[in-house]
Amino acid sequence: MADDLDAIIIGAGFGGLTAAIKLKEAGFGRLVMLEKADRIGGTWRENTYPGACCDVPSRLYSLSFALNPEWSRAFSPQAEIRDYMERVAKQFGMMGLFRFNTEVEKAVWDEAAGQWTVTVKGGETLSAPVLVSGLGQLNKPGYAGIPGRDAFKGDSWHSAGWRHDIDLTGKTVGCIGAGASAIQYIPEIARTAGKVIVFQRTPNYIVPRLDRAFSAFEKWLFRAVPAIDRLNRWFIWRMMDLRFQAFKTGTKSAENFRGLALKYLDAVVTDPALKAKLTPDYPIGCKRILVSDDYYQTLTRPSVELVTEAVAEVTPAGVKTADGAEHACDVLVYGTGFVTTDFVSPVEIVGAGGRSLSAAWKDGAEAYLGVTVAGFPNLFMLYGPNTNLGHNSIIVMIESQVGYLVEAMKELKRRGARSLTVTDQALKRFNAELQQDLTKTAWAGSCSSWYKTASGKITNNWSNDTATYMRLMRSPAFADYEVA
Ligand code: NAP
Repeated sequence: MADDLDAIIIGAGFGGLTAAIKLKEAGFGRLVMLEKADRIGGTWRENTYPGACCDVPSRLYSLSFALNPEWSRAFSPQAEIRDYMERVAKQFGMMGLFRFNTEVEKAVWDEAAGQWTVTVKGGETLSAPVLVSGLGQLNKPGYAGIPGRDAFKGDSWHSAGWRHDIDLTGKTVGCIGAGASAIQYIPEIARTAGKVIVFQRTPNYIVPRLDRAFSAFEKWLFRAVPAIDRLNRWFIWRMMDLRFQAFKTGTKSAENFRGLALKYLDAVVTDPALKAKLTPDYPIGCKRILVSDDYYQTLTRPSVELVTEAVAEVTPAGVKTADGAEHACDVLVYGTGFVTTDFVSPVEIVGAGGRSLSAAWKDGAEAYLGVTVAGFPNLFMLYGPNTNLGHNSIIVMIESQVGYLVEAMKELKRRGARSLTVTDQALKRFNAELQQDLTKTAWAGSCSSWYKTASGKITNNWSNDTATYMRLMRSPAFADYEVA
């Protein structure tokens, strides 16, 4: 089997699934998709916390070639997105290509054979000329190095590993972190918990989500006239792409967006002390702009306390903050985000000359157009370095990257070539321009975020709008590649 494969795809999230569908369509159907879990969905399988929901409108959070007239709401709940992915996988005949419960440990480029040899947990190996990483950026839960985590006597968990077996009714729940995930589950927990203590290190800009259910008529219309769904999707994409201006430092658009967020805070929170704690002091967009219709409202409930003193340590009884106060909790939830700047780190990838990707990225991950890396022939990454967005749907980026991958595989076939490797020169040139462009964005501002390394290099975000990215990706410049 191994010798017959066109490509090995790691991960069965949106990236891996889209790649498999499009490669098969292009005639590269001898594929295997290796997935450590027992079903597809990636982040939408893993993150099942109460209230988990997409903060990108549903119409745009679907594949352009598999529209979904059945979305129940303007912003889809997690289970609906996971089910949609499963439906798409079945519709396009992908299910037979998955190998579940198969965790990839290592992938090594075999120069002599001109292929990647992938080792999975248990020792089995598979080989193929092309390796596609669909690992994405948000697959490794992070606990922010908070000391004392093991000392806590109650139940505790990370937002990406929700304990649905534990009833929070009447309990005191400590929530460490107030980011994109936390602002979705805190309102849900507060409905039944006796008390919720939110430990917030940095406030976020929050704008209303304006979520609503789609009516039966709207669903019928999207079903009966797919062109309307398509047009709607295009319109939302375009409007969101124009919003990129707000992520550029010093623009009127940024100022307007900041005004909108602060006005919303002002309208919901009347207590001046609480408002002060929730007012960010850094440029808007520097951290992800959050959308919610119920988070601020939840913080005004008497049963919810917002603590802004730094978390010093977790103790057997709860959380101790830097002012020495002890906050007793029955349960602790870590909404402390993910380890994001290591990228493919759960898998050890070794390229030409025995050089590992982690060594190549010792000063921070970088890839050509977020997809390829010098010294790593026929390795293609989806949602790789510098392809995350703050203003639009990642699905759009993934589809572009998959289009690029398909063109590259066609080029290999056309030339009868063994491998394509981006040149070091092209990689450096691309990244120098990218990093220069990023200095003009909000992400370079005075905040900490999961978009940058400890030394401040922005490794996660794309520097422009998605229209620009799509244009660059449409026809690969193979002159930037060494062809073997
Ligand atoms: P996150 O946004 O990075 O939030 C992590 C939170 O933990 C932040 O509030 C952070 O504070 C806090 N934290 C970290 N260390 C801490 C410490 N020592 N003490 C106290 N607080 C600490 O992580 P996330 O909520 O898991 O979201 C990650 C990303 O996932 C999002 O940005 C988004 O891209 C994606 N996501 C998307 C959706 C969606 O709807 N599409 C939903 C959820 C998540 P600081 O801000 O001070 O660092």
